[in-house]
Amino acid sequence: MRRISIFGATGSIGANGIDLIRRAGGAGLFDIVALTGGRNIARLAEMARELRAEVAVTAHEELLGDLRARLEGSGIEAAAGPAALTEAASRPADWVLSAIVGAAGLAPGLTALGQGSVLALANKESLVCAGSLMRAAAKRGKTRILPVDSEHSAIFQALGSETLETVNHVTITASGGAFRDWPLERLAAATVAEASNHPNWAMGQRITIDSASMFNKAMEVIETHEFFGLDEHRIKVLIHPESIIHAMVTHIDGGTIAHLGAPDMRHAIGYALNWPKRAPLPVPALDLAAIGRLNFREPDEKRWPALRLAREVMAAGGMAGAVFNAAKEQALDDFIGGRIGFTQMASMVETVLEALAGRPGFGDEPVDLETVLHWDRIARQEAAA
Ligand code: NAD
Ligand code: MG
Repeated sequence: MRRISIFGATGSIGANGIDLIRRAGGAGLFDIVALTGGRNIARLAEMARELRAEVAVTAHEELLGDLRARLEGSGIEAAAGPAALTEAASRPADWVLSAIVGAAGLAPGLTALGQGSVLALANKESLVCAGSLMRAAAKRGKTRILPVDSEHSAIFQALGSETLETVNHVTITASGGAFRDWPLERLAAATVAEASNHPNWAMGQRITIDSASMFNKAMEVIETHEFFGLDEHRIKVLIHPESIIHAMVTHIDGGTIAHLGAPDMRHAIGYALNWPKRAPLPVPALDLAAIGRLNFREPDEKRWPALRLAREVMAAGGMAGAVFNAAKEQALDDFIGGRIGFTQMASMVETVLEALAGRPGFGDEPVDLETVLHWDRIARQEAAA
């Protein structure tokens, strides 16, 4: 029996994780400690009741009354707000699925690691903002982070028991998102609805738009750097419209080991939830004869300036990742809110990085969560200015 908490249970990754747990339910393999969500209180309460969670937490304090009412008589605790999220992360659990979107996932992830839970990490933002803090927390808790992002799960699986010493480089693939084949001059006028339409993956709206702008891939390059400890020049990005190969590891002897699979997040989530074992998952095996051919091309940095920015962030180190992520989150809010155009997101992030790069402390590795949150705040203010 594995005791598990799910942060961001009401989202796309959370729902896929719960689907897997529900299917495994017959065998009684998982026992739910905490489930957390945002504004969808009906869904959160329903999930908590069905899976008999110990506690359900909404991120929004004003929704506590509603959550309490919906859980009445169930014996499930209700809680709300950022402090309650961190408290829930401190409850003993063997596994924690970190599936909140954005920097809000950082505090619960650090707490879960610090108290010894294995962290199945979908929330790439926490590695981008504070990779060194995450690694230190895992060390303190004598535990580890397991990747849930499909590309990182793919690298992890392709590496197997081999070490990085024989790795020449890794390649993560990108579908190219909604605007892969659009004429460049049309991008500035792209709408939110157009950017929210991913060709291959069904995901939350924010990561779907980040896929169109390639900010998602930019974050994933940084995530690869932080998770595997690979230098920037050993991480390549390849456009692969079919999303069948998720990542490849190329060794010093010229051999390349690729991880292939249907674009279904339940593979990577299920791999992390069952690790170190493999379990049957409801993901169909590939029929390569039916797929017929796979295509590849170099990413175009004119179309996707986010990729260049990711390289600059890794070269700068220190607080650049936290600033990059926060400015990106603000730019995305502004795009979704209709205040800026699609291509302005990248210029906004670049302007914020340039403006804050000279500030004292920018180049220093974060010493604690408060430092990261401080830089997160000033980056959002600078972006909104
Ligand atoms: P989503 O928007 O569908 O769900 C996000 C979850 O986080 C919801 O439960 C929401 O209530 C919660 N949340 C949002 N803001 C919050 C806040 N301020 N405080 C606490 N909780 C908050 O997002 P998603 O697509 O499931 O993505 C979740 C994470 O997984 C992201 O980091 C994303 O980059 C990563 N990821 C997602 C996919 C995918 O297929 N969806 C694939 C790889 C990685
Ligand atoms: Mg990914």
